[in-house]
Amino acid sequence: MSRDASGNALTPALAQTITRRIDDLADTLLGVSHEIHAHPELAFQEHRAAALLCDTLDANGLPAERGVFTLETAFEAGFGGGAGPTVAILAEYDALPGIGHACGHNLIATAALGATLGLKAVADALPGRIRLIGTPAEEKGGGKELMARAGAFDGVDAAMMIHPAGVNLTTMPCICVAEVEVIYHGRSAHASAMPHKGINALDGLLLAYQAISNLRQHIRDEERIHGIVTEGGQAPNIVPDRAAGLFYVRAATEKALAALKPRVHACFDAGAKASGAGVEVNWSDVDYLDLNTNWPLANRFQAHGESLGREFLSPGALGGAGSTDMGNVSYRVPSIHPMLACSPPSVVIHNPEFARYAGSEMGDAAALDGAKAMALTAAEFLLDPVLQTEVGRAFEISRGLGIDGGSQPGPGKRPRA
Ligand SMILES: [Zn+2]
Ligand SMILES: [Zn+2]
Repeated sequence: MSRDASGNALTPALAQTITRRIDDLADTLLGVSHEIHAHPELAFQEHRAAALLCDTLDANGLPAERGVFTLETAFEAGFGGGAGPTVAILAEYDALPGIGHACGHNLIATAALGATLGLKAVADALPGRIRLIGTPAEEKGGGKELMARAGAFDGVDAAMMIHPAGVNLTTMPCICVAEVEVIYHGRSAHASAMPHKGINALDGLLLAYQAISNLRQHIRDEERIHGIVTEGGQAPNIVPDRAAGLFYVRAATEKALAALKPRVHACFDAGAKASGAGVEVNWSDVDYLDLNTNWPLANRFQAHGESLGREFLSPGALGGAGSTDMGNVSYRVPSIHPMLACSPPSVVIHNPEFARYAGSEMGDAAALDGAKAMALTAAEFLLDPVLQTEVGRAFEISRGLGIDGGSQPGPGKRPRA
């Protein structure tokens, strides 16, 4: 197919077929969204959500393969093939402990499902392949990294997902994060009768916590270290023989993260030395990387989002940076991770109020708009060899392999948070 006068091979008729199909499926899609929202499941335990998504795909003529790429709650479905490129549309569906879908992953899953089913309506007109990949465990465990190691994104030419927020953004301000569990081993004793016989594991942990608090004053603005005590003893009259904590360490880049981790580790060692307790420091096998946004693709998503009536702000409008395992995908294949408003800007993500919006009419609109904007972006990518070249070149340059200045920054481009 040749490019039309606007340089775009996605014709209005084709775009309309896609968006109409998504509108026609709205009841089914929003039913899925509400069902996942009403039954939040934690990382790696998203059995109900994964089954619902797979059943819906099966019922709509796209048989889903379940338990793919080493994870029980991962799945894949798709269509197309041949010599054309491959687009991966990613679905997340895990929730948070205690506050349910306060990250709105039910909307991510629904948008991905809707985009895929919308594209299927024009399957005959699309060269290449569409893969819907269900990726569990974003909030914890780095599901996408585990799946990537098993080959989930091999051969993918462009990957995309949307994430809900309080505003519309072309990308998410994003930093790297490492997770570390620390366990102190002491010796129990009667805390009053024989305190001199005890070694206080809780003291070790609290000294480390305090040392980390001091360290925070001497790290970069965008770096973060935050943790909780998960075990602190059994009773006040027993010297705790065991104490444990969980910490997240964040930095702007993989290199900065690698430099920060030993400084945090030293705080754990200091707690052990001062208290006399032994310490076990278990760094997670999976670090989350920052987002390597592919701007030619992100700009097309923004244009399609704007055509649906959404206004996009610069990423800095969010006021802070989070982390996502989509970052790990974005260094392997060209990727975008735009955000769509499902709440007023004042509502804080990872807060119960945000969870309410993820199940509201505003959330419904974000899911359907996300489905449409992703489907249109994916179709355009498959149909437009010039865009494919731009996306590929920008990706190579972003990884330090390019030879010139490459793609121009998009309207929403800002330095990394
Ligand atoms: Zn989250
Ligand atoms: Zn999230």
